[in-house]
Amino acid sequence: MTTTTKLNYRELAEQVLQGHALTKEEALALLEAPDEDLLDILHSAYAIRKHYYGNKVKLNMIINAKSGLCPEDCGYCSQSIVADTPVEKYAMLNKESILAGAQEAIARKAGTYCIVASGRRPSDKELDGVIDAIKEIRETTSLKICACLGFLSETHASKLSEAGVNRYNHNLNTSKENYDNICSTHTYDDRVDTVTKVKESGMSPCSGVIMGLGESPEELVNVAFSIKSLDVDSIPVNFLNSIDGTPLETYKNLNPRQCLKAVAMFRFVNPTKEIRLSGGREINLRSLQAMGLYAANSIFVGDYLTTQGQEPTSDWGMIQDLGFEIEECAL
Ligand code: SF4
Repeated sequence: MTTTTKLNYRELAEQVLQGHALTKEEALALLEAPDEDLLDILHSAYAIRKHYYGNKVKLNMIINAKSGLCPEDCGYCSQSIVADTPVEKYAMLNKESILAGAQEAIARKAGTYCIVASGRRPSDKELDGVIDAIKEIRETTSLKICACLGFLSETHASKLSEAGVNRYNHNLNTSKENYDNICSTHTYDDRVDTVTKVKESGMSPCSGVIMGLGESPEELVNVAFSIKSLDVDSIPVNFLNSIDGTPLETYKNLNPRQCLKAVAMFRFVNPTKEIRLSGGREINLRSLQAMGLYAANSIFVGDYLTTQGQEPTSDWGMIQDLGFEIEECAL
C-alpha cells in the first residue's frame, strides 16, 4: 500500500454517503494526513456520522463483573496473570451487585449496561449466574445488555441470546499480522471465531480495536477492514492506556491528532456502524476528546475495567457543549 493519494475529504464523504466503499489506500491516506488537515477530516467524518446518527450520542456503562486472575497473556491488560499490577482481584460478582450496577447505569443516563468479566471463557456456573441477573434486568428495566465474557461456545452463545442479551462484545484488538506481538495464549482467529458465533446466535455483534499496540498504520487499516468484513454493529475504538507492570507499559506513542484521524478512518470505512470512543479516551485525546464525537456516536460513561474515566457530569457537559444529545436508548 502506498500513500500517494491526496484526498478531497469532503468529496470522499459525499461518495461514501452515495455508497462508495472506502479503499485501503484511501483509509491509509486519512491516517497519514498532515495534522493541518485534521479539521477538514473531522468535518467530513461528521457529515457521515450526522447522516446516520444525527447529533445523538449513545452512552454505555461498564461493570467489571470479574476482575484479574486471567490466565491469558494479552500484553496490554492489567488483569492478566503476567501483569505485575495492583488491580483488584475478585470472582464473578453476585446477582445483587450486578443488579446494583444496572441502577447505576440508569443514574448515569446510560442506555446500555455492559457486563464484562476477565478470563478466557466463562464456566457454566459463572454463565448461569450472570444470566440470572440479566433476565431480571431485562424484565425490570429498559436497559440494553451487552455482555463481554470471553470466548464463547455455541451453547453459551445460545444461552445468552435466549436470556435476552442484546449484544456481545469481543474485540479483535489489533490486526492479524500484529496479533502474535500482543498475545501468545490465543490467536486472532480464535477471536474471529467467537465474533462469528455471536452473529450466528442472533445477538448483535460488537468488535473493535485498541490503538497503540505497536501496529503500523497499514495494520490499523487492515483491522478496520477485517471488522468491516465481519459486519459487526458496534465498533469500540480504544486507545492504549499503557499501565505500569504490563508487558506493553512502555507503549506511549499516541497523540490526540493521530487518535482523531483513526476514529475518522473507522467512520469512513464503517459509515453506518456505531463507533464508540472507548478506553483511554480521556488520557489519549485529552483536551481534544470532544472532537472525537464528530466522528464517533457513542462513549462509555464512568470508569473502565481497571482505570478511571471522567465524571458522568463531565461527559454530559461535553455532549451539551457540542450541542449534541444523549440518545434515549436503542442498540
Ligand atoms: S484482555 Fe481479557 S483475555 Fe486478555 S488478559 Fe485481559 S482479561 Fe484476560
